[in-house]
Amino acid sequence: MSSFADRSTDPPDEHGRSLAPGARRLTPRADVALMAGYHSPQIDVDVRLNTNEAPEPPPAGFVAELQAELERIPFNRYPDRQALALRSAIGAQHNVGAEQVYCANGSNEVLQSILLAYGGPGRAAAVFEPTYALHSHIARITGTEVIAGERDDDMLVDELELARVLTVGGRIGGANPAVMFLCSPNNPTGRAEPRDTVERVIASAPGLVVVDEAYGQFARWSACELLHDSPNLVVVRTFSKTWSLAGLRLGYAIAEAEVVDALLRVTLPYHLDAVKQAAGRIALGYGDEMRERVARLAEERGRVAAALAELPVDVYPSDANFILFRVRAHDAQEVWRSLVQRSILVRDVTGWPSLAGCLRVTIGTQAENDAFLAGLTAVLA
Ligand SMILES: *Cc1c(COP(=O)(O)O)cnc(C)c1O
Repeated sequence: MSSFADRSTDPPDEHGRSLAPGARRLTPRADVALMAGYHSPQIDVDVRLNTNEAPEPPPAGFVAELQAELERIPFNRYPDRQALALRSAIGAQHNVGAEQVYCANGSNEVLQSILLAYGGPGRAAAVFEPTYALHSHIARITGTEVIAGERDDDMLVDELELARVLTVGGRIGGANPAVMFLCSPNNPTGRAEPRDTVERVIASAPGLVVVDEAYGQFARWSACELLHDSPNLVVVRTFSKTWSLAGLRLGYAIAEAEVVDALLRVTLPYHLDAVKQAAGRIALGYGDEMRERVARLAEERGRVAAALAELPVDVYPSDANFILFRVRAHDAQEVWRSLVQRSILVRDVTGWPSLAGCLRVTIGTQAENDAFLAGLTAVLA
């Protein structure tokens, strides 16, 4: 252990800060120190179309029911550690029992539990870029090696690339990649993975196949249809997008009971608070309202896509509540900044693999979409 004198003569850190006498330099794990945080800037703007949230608050009836339920929660007691009522209610929506449902604080925490249980040192996770950045980010945090496959020009996963990724995994070790991620519809490109792609990945994967369906209700088909015949399939969903509940932080996975057991083993006790358990259960009673909202957003998506097609941008087809487009003659980051100056925030994805020149816009209310289209038209004029 270094002495007081040694420590006070440490060189300044990368920010030029010297240690105060007697202070200790606290260094995170070397691989963590190198990691960039994952975040979309939270800028205060009038039109917020950068994180794919639902533009409308949840139904008033949901809020009223939750308020009434708050009166009945015994706050001095720990919540139900198994979250059985919530897991049963979610399971009922998918025709499975509570033992096949795993819940966590947002689907990001579900992904973390999957990687804690099935990833880790000596194991690899595969992704197909460009895709949701947190799949590889959380993999690295958990010490899991990342195998980055590439999507083809249509932003799909082709057979040759799948074979290459499996070969790379095999070289790391026989059972790798231990986890393969698909995102359907894929964020940030927009299309749902075709059913035959998902079936092919499930059939050839040596380990788990995780299909992230954060936007699943917008798509024409769900990998849930394959759960019955696929013991290595995990479907992950969230209340953050289609359910208008990003502020609640609730997500879940549907999988074989054996997989759910493994996820529960890496989970902290009582991680789901009593309010969240009640809120999630109550929200499920508003399925009709959720589907109406999804239908309205899909209609708006068609309108926004048609309007974008009239501008000097290339539009990618979308099965979700966002649209990816490539700016043709302008610098995309400058376009992004000009939109921010007009109090319109979209997602700058120019730094993502093979998305140079691209921006992603979330479908908002009709008024927000009009403001975005008017702003973009002016900026590109
Ligand atoms: C938004 C999003 C999530 C949501 O994460 P939560 O933690 O549930 O809010 C998960 N996966 C993808 C692909 C997303 O786009």
